[in-house]
Amino acid sequence: MTKSALVTGAAGFLGSHLTDRLLGDGCLVLGVDNLSTGDRGNLAHLRNDSRFRFEERDICAGFDPGPVDLVFNLASPASPPEYLRLGIETLRVGSLGVENALQIAAKYGAGFFHASTSECYGDPLEHPQAETYWGNVNPVGPRSVYDEAKRFAEAMVMAYYRSRGVDTRMARIFNTYGPRLHPGDGRVISNFIMQALRGEPLTIYGDGRQTRSFCYVDDLIEGIVRLSRSEEHSPVNLGNPDECTILECANAVLEVTGCASQLSYVELPVDDPARRRPDITKARALLGWEPRVTLREGLKKSLDYFRTRMAESAGPGGQGNRGARSQGAGY
Ligand code: NAD
Ligand code: UDP
Repeated sequence: MTKSALVTGAAGFLGSHLTDRLLGDGCLVLGVDNLSTGDRGNLAHLRNDSRFRFEERDICAGFDPGPVDLVFNLASPASPPEYLRLGIETLRVGSLGVENALQIAAKYGAGFFHASTSECYGDPLEHPQAETYWGNVNPVGPRSVYDEAKRFAEAMVMAYYRSRGVDTRMARIFNTYGPRLHPGDGRVISNFIMQALRGEPLTIYGDGRQTRSFCYVDDLIEGIVRLSRSEEHSPVNLGNPDECTILECANAVLEVTGCASQLSYVELPVDDPARRRPDITKARALLGWEPRVTLREGLKKSLDYFRTRMAESAGPGGQGNRGARSQGAGY
C-alpha cells in the first residue's frame, strides 16, 4: 500500500534528501518548511512530481495536513550562526513545533521520526559519545538556544511515546555534509569548500585541534530510513565514527579541491565542543548500519554542487552568503 509522509524542514539540506529517498521508496510526500534557513531550490527538481506537494508554513503554528502514515520532523535551524541569529525561533520550533508535529502523528496514528543531534551531549566529558551519556550542556550559553531546544524536544518525544502511545523514533545526528548544504550557512565543510574554491584563506576557529566526525549525507539518510522502520524508541546515534581535527578537515578540503589556500586563525566561538565522535555500536547492532563513505570521497561527491553554487553567486543578483551567514566565527 502506498504510504504518505509529512516531512517538516523539507526545503533544508537533510529534509530535501530525505524527501527524495521517500519518493524513491514509493511514498507520497507533503513537505512543509518556513524557508527560514532552507531553500526552495533544494526541491526544484520535484516541481513536476505529482507525488510531492510543498507548503510554505511555520510548524510552530498548528496545522492539519490530513491523514498521514509517517511524520518526519526535521524542521529547525541547524548551523551555529543560523541558530544564533534565530535563537528564539530555534527554541520555539524545538518546543511548540515539535509538539505540533507530534500531535499530527497522534491524531492519525502515524509513525514519528525526530531529528535530534549530537549537541545534546554538549561539550562531552565522555568520549566517544554513547546514547547512555547524559551530556555536558551550558544551559545559558549562546549555544543553549539549540542545545536546550533539542534536549527539550527529546523529552517531548519520549512523553508522547510514554503518555500518548505515539510510535516515535529519534536519531542523534552527528555532523553531516554533502550537496545542498547551504554554501553560506557557516558550517565548517561549506565554509572550507567555498573558501578553497574562491582561493580565500580557510578560517580555522581556535587552534583547529578540536575534533568532529563527518558523515556523508547518503549514509545518514540510509540510517534514518532504517531507524524509522525499526522498533527502537530511545535515541540512536547516527554519524560517522571516523574522527578528525578541524585542521585535518581543512587539509582534506585543500587536497580534494586542489586549491592552495592559506589558513587563517580566528577566535574560537564560546562553548565550541572540543571533541565529538559517535559510538555507533547501537546503530550497528540494531539497524545493521554503518557509514561507508570516507571524508575524502564525500568531499569529492560534494564538489560539483558547491562549484555550481559558486558560479550562481558570482552571476548577476547572486547571493553567495546570505545576511548573517558568515565566513568568520563572528559569534
Ligand atoms: P537546514 O537548516 O538545512 O534545514 C532545516 C530546515 O527547517 C530549513 O529548511 C528551515 O527553513 C526549516 N525550518 C526551520 N524552522 C522551521 C519552522 N518553524 N517551520 C518550518 N520549517 C522550519 O538544516 P539540516 O542540516 O538539514 O538539519 C535538519 C535537521 O537535522 C535539524 O532538525 C537539525 O537540528 C538536525 N541535525 C542536522 C545535523 C547536520 O549535520 N546536518 C546534525 C544534527 C542534527
Ligand atoms: N569551524 C571552523 N571554521 C569554520 C567553521 C567552523 O574552524 O569556518 C569549526 C567550529 O569552530 C567547530 C567545527 O568547525 O569546532 C564544526 O563547526 P560547525 O559549525 O560545522 O558545526 P558544530 O559541530 O560546531 O555544530
